Amino acid sequence: LSSSSGPRVCIVGGGPAGFYTAQQLLKARQDAAVDVYERLPVPFGLVRFGVAPDHPEVKNVINTFTQTAQHERCSFHGNVNVGKDVTIDELRQAYHAVVLSYGAEGNRSMGIPGEDLPGVFSAKDFVGWYNGLPSNKELRPDLSCETAVILGQGNVALDVARILLAPVEMLKETDITQNALKALAGSKVRRVLIVGRRGPLQIACTIKELREMVNLPNSRADMLPADFEGIAEALKDLPRPRKRLTELMMKAAKEGGDDKAEKCWGFRFFRSPVEVIAGADGKRATGIRLALNKLEGSGESARAEVTGQMEDVDCGLIISSIGYKSIPIDPAVPFDPRRAIVPNEMGRVQDTAGLYCSGWVKRGPTGVIATTMNDSFDTARVLIQDMEAGKLDLSVNKPGAQAITALLQTRGVRTVLFSQWEKINAEEEKRGKFLGKPREKLLDVDEMLKIWTD
Ligand code: FAD
Repeated sequence: LSSSSGPRVCIVGGGPAGFYTAQQLLKARQDAAVDVYERLPVPFGLVRFGVAPDHPEVKNVINTFTQTAQHERCSFHGNVNVGKDVTIDELRQAYHAVVLSYGAEGNRSMGIPGEDLPGVFSAKDFVGWYNGLPSNKELRPDLSCETAVILGQGNVALDVARILLAPVEMLKETDITQNALKALAGSKVRRVLIVGRRGPLQIACTIKELREMVNLPNSRADMLPADFEGIAEALKDLPRPRKRLTELMMKAAKEGGDDKAEKCWGFRFFRSPVEVIAGADGKRATGIRLALNKLEGSGESARAEVTGQMEDVDCGLIISSIGYKSIPIDPAVPFDPRRAIVPNEMGRVQDTAGLYCSGWVKRGPTGVIATTMNDSFDTARVLIQDMEAGKLDLSVNKPGAQAITALLQTRGVRTVLFSQWEKINAEEEKRGKFLGKPREKLLDVDEMLKIWTD
């Protein structure tokens, strides 16, 4: 057993929430040791597998996470699926406290007929595909249709729209996978409609993402003037960020953009998906039926009510971007199925002393990395308060990673340490350099494991 008698904390999930929680714990307690367990052999969660390839500046947080992982009191253990390879109870035995930071790996379904047809994808899978998530490497979306419909109007929807329409020249110097780049180079998609239940004043995207759509080369905006009725009058009462967003949207709707552009995109407001329409053979999606809505109430809280009218849109690709969802990973952990989060008070998991949570699994799958950072710092502070208030029994020595690593070994789990990830990283950068990109991601878990054992 290590001689350290300080608190040992275990973190489940090596995404932003995990690393920011670790960072704050290490900083606030000079005697704490923190171990991060991550399901994949590679760290960083959605920074690697979510954030769009053409947003490299967002990925700079990886530098901070790397510093944390390399901290002398921190260790990273990749390729450990908590809940399967090791249980939460086993972790709780080995550590003074366990923090769940495992994000939102599930997907909200639309709950409409036909949503499982070929041609329909969740944004989560589609994003995972172009970002090299091992479980999505076989996705092979058929991009031979002219129109794609995206359901949902948040930033993820706009990321997907942009990737579908961006000139391949723009993407080829990013870390998008070669597979995706090849498929996009042959894509016939020329028109992307981004559908939302409510109106322009309720749209969930931010101005940066909208501006990127407006500025997309060879694409013009194509919106329906009727969707913007009454919007100009409402502008003056809007808070400033929403006002600027709405003004930009109205300008795009009015001006459209380059007439010679070969591609177009547009929001379609006041519409809810009702059914995916199958082709004559019933084998794949060829369109989507939308219910037309009207708004009840106004502002952020306005509700969409159906009018009874319907509209069919022909399209060969449908991407549902209505949200990610956390899933339970171990029956020993409380889970609120309705809110799809681990029920907690300020990061303290309900009814379970010594168990905490941070990030998307704590507050639901919304918010940028900075939001996740703040809520992870909050959880770390609460944990430290509990230590200082004597709520965690620090008088007993806990074995930490030593015990868990031994356990994992007996179960045949090959863990990946941070230094081993660095070998994978170097290999990815090497392959990327050859292609003129920052990295070419490895897509296969076995291949990742092979890199550092060879
Ligand atoms: P995650 O990032 O999902 O990390 C959770 C980690 O836990 C993952 O590594 C996962 O593999 C691991 N895990 C899951 N289950 C287990 C298990 N059983 N055992 C062990 N480990 C497990 N924010 C921005 O600021 N800018 C952007 O441009 C941006 N773009 C985004 C694009 C997309 C498509 C998405 C979905 C999100 C984007 N975000 C962006 C938001 C940002 O990614 C999130 O705020 C942040 O990643 C949430 O952090 P997290 O650690 O809670 O979850």
